[in-house]
Amino acid sequence: MMNKKTVRDIEVRGKRVLLRVDFNVPLEGGTITDDTRIRAALPTIRYLLDREARVIIASHLGRPKGKPEPAFSLRPVAERLSQLLGQAVPLAPDSIGPEVKAMVERLKPGEALMLENLRFHAEEEKNDPSYAKELASLADVFVNDAFGAAHRAHASTEGVAHYLPAVAGFLMERELLFLGKALMQPDRPFVAILGGAKISDKIGVITNLLGKVDKLLIGGGMANTFLKAKGLHVGDSLVEDGSLEDARRVMQEGGAKLRLPVDAVVADAFSANAAARVVKVEAIPEGWRVLDIGPETVEIFRQELRGAKTVFWNGPMGVFEFPRFAEGTIAIARAVAELEATTIVGGGDSVAAVEQAGVADRITHISTGGGASLEFLEGRVLPGVAALADK
Ligand code: ADP
Ligand code: MG
Repeated sequence: MMNKKTVRDIEVRGKRVLLRVDFNVPLEGGTITDDTRIRAALPTIRYLLDREARVIIASHLGRPKGKPEPAFSLRPVAERLSQLLGQAVPLAPDSIGPEVKAMVERLKPGEALMLENLRFHAEEEKNDPSYAKELASLADVFVNDAFGAAHRAHASTEGVAHYLPAVAGFLMERELLFLGKALMQPDRPFVAILGGAKISDKIGVITNLLGKVDKLLIGGGMANTFLKAKGLHVGDSLVEDGSLEDARRVMQEGGAKLRLPVDAVVADAFSANAAARVVKVEAIPEGWRVLDIGPETVEIFRQELRGAKTVFWNGPMGVFEFPRFAEGTIAIARAVAELEATTIVGGGDSVAAVEQAGVADRITHISTGGGASLEFLEGRVLPGVAALADK
């Protein structure tokens, strides 16, 4: 299943290790508002430091325009990492160049430093070979723990792997294990729940999962396009007319595997305080819009989940940001959390929803890969994964 080498498969003692992480954390006025991504990389960093590696940590942060911009400096990240590790992690002035090289030369076994934002060089996103070579020249081995950036062929995710032995860190390993097993050898029944705003964002995932799952439950805004494709009136609901054909094809291919909402919570405006009513999907009033799945749908989805051995969930069932329209999403979160199954939740808003429901710790695997998770589930080869050495 996991056919890529990991840090466990190579000797790191005394070696200079270039470690690519995803420390693209949210910042407000230079302060980190959520350090989850930094904490998530600690197991790999500690493993390397414990084994006396010399660790060179590399990440991108935000979207600087290919040149140094102080607002996107990794300084606050290096400081937070130093606190979390209980060990100083100095920040280099750049990611390549003689000054950085000299700092790396001075690193002792068991010490770490952090390179400045990779995207201060336009060559990073262009996967420029000479920039990749410069980065690689800092180290003896490359460890990639940035699953969330693995769908991009950038110098630090793909390019460097041409010049150094390349293996996965523990976070990368975990994502590949859970997502890979779900796609290749899921314990069955395998049920997927897909929702969120748009069908067009997820059509690749829907199509690929359809061939792998035993049941596909569809809720959220994307369900409206399916309902309209069935000839129902959806009022002022969010609909993608450009995806009606895709919806018809999915319904045809999915047949009995596919479950759509039978009722909905509709609102007279797109607002937290809108008037709300539960209606059958055949009776969505003109001028109203679907903002959540209804209680009957929740019950049907719960039944479909009963006995599942693998569950993948992406996309909220409704506009869960408005408490009045969060009930369907929260009920599904609880139902998933209660299962004796391998449960995987991916997607920024979906993860926020399971956290809001207070059940995140009862989900087997919270995938933090965002776009990378979705591309993986579409069945695409991720360049940052393909570049790693095979076992
Ligand atoms: P994720 O981030 O988990 O991949 P998406 O970004 O695809 O999920 O979708 C989340 C968004 O979908 C939320 O902002 C939510 O408000 C919206 N959404 C869900 N159901 C509806 C609906 N019925 N109408 C409009 N928006 C919806
Ligand atoms: Mg989202």
